[in-house]
Amino acid sequence: MVTAPHPDFVEAGRIAAKVIEEVAREVRPRVKVLRICALAERRILEYVGKRGGIAFPCNVSINEEAAHYTSPRGDTKMFPEQGLVKIDIGAHVNGHISDTAVTVDLDGTFEKFVAAAKSSLDAAIDVVRPGIQVGEVGAEIEKTIKRHGLKPVHQLSGHQLKPWILHAGKNVPNVRIRRSAEMKVGETYAIEPFATNGNGTIRSGENAFIFSNNMSNKKKLDRLSVQIRNQTRQRFGTLPWASRWLRSQKVDTNTIIATLVKAGVVREYPILYEGRNGMVSQFEHSIFVGEDGAIVTTLRK
Ligand code: MN
Ligand code: MN
Repeated sequence: MVTAPHPDFVEAGRIAAKVIEEVAREVRPRVKVLRICALAERRILEYVGKRGGIAFPCNVSINEEAAHYTSPRGDTKMFPEQGLVKIDIGAHVNGHISDTAVTVDLDGTFEKFVAAAKSSLDAAIDVVRPGIQVGEVGAEIEKTIKRHGLKPVHQLSGHQLKPWILHAGKNVPNVRIRRSAEMKVGETYAIEPFATNGNGTIRSGENAFIFSNNMSNKKKLDRLSVQIRNQTRQRFGTLPWASRWLRSQKVDTNTIIATLVKAGVVREYPILYEGRNGMVSQFEHSIFVGEDGAIVTTLRK
């Protein structure tokens, strides 16, 4: 029985916590989103060194964007004067993944949203213990968010973390579910409540800037597509990557990515919007299920 978190999991958590703390301080009106993505990713690489890397592209989702916005190459998008900015980042050390998120309220108008998501994450972490059903953790999240007069985004959930697999096995819902899977000692999870004044559903947008590799080879592909496919497999393996990370002087990588998505070789993660364009806040921690409860590896100072 595994009763202590793997040192690499602990290290990945510590690094993501340190980076998100630094990056969140840089989020202000009129700052470029791309600057924040690049800073977060550069810092992760600096701190991780040769032992690991970026677990997934830095997500910077604003207001009704719930998740999965990362800057495309050359992005000129800036933070507005007011609103909610979700920063969601992850590092890995030898494949052991951390996943953590915070919300920055740009001018103090949406404090309630920040408090709802943050306190529901704390409440969820408090009830984690071996044998608890994930739906009971969701119940805690739902209850806490509703107490703040908001709704949980029930179509998004937390997830188990396994080496090299970001969304592994069991989910942790953001609402109460009866008779669900149990958390077991030694497992690792990302818990991530989202609070909204919309209806709590999610709609996929047109654009996707985050992708991951499907490891199957079914369709016949042209030479350039095979080249890019092999390159992304070698560089990112099973972990998500950003279209911004692919560079080539000779070819239009976005067109090739589109070809690979169509062929089922690459999976896309479109930007996710709240169903009624409600405002969305999010907090997230990575945890280890210990005998006496959760050990949080992404705690900030
Ligand atoms: Mn996350
Ligand atoms: Mn997550």
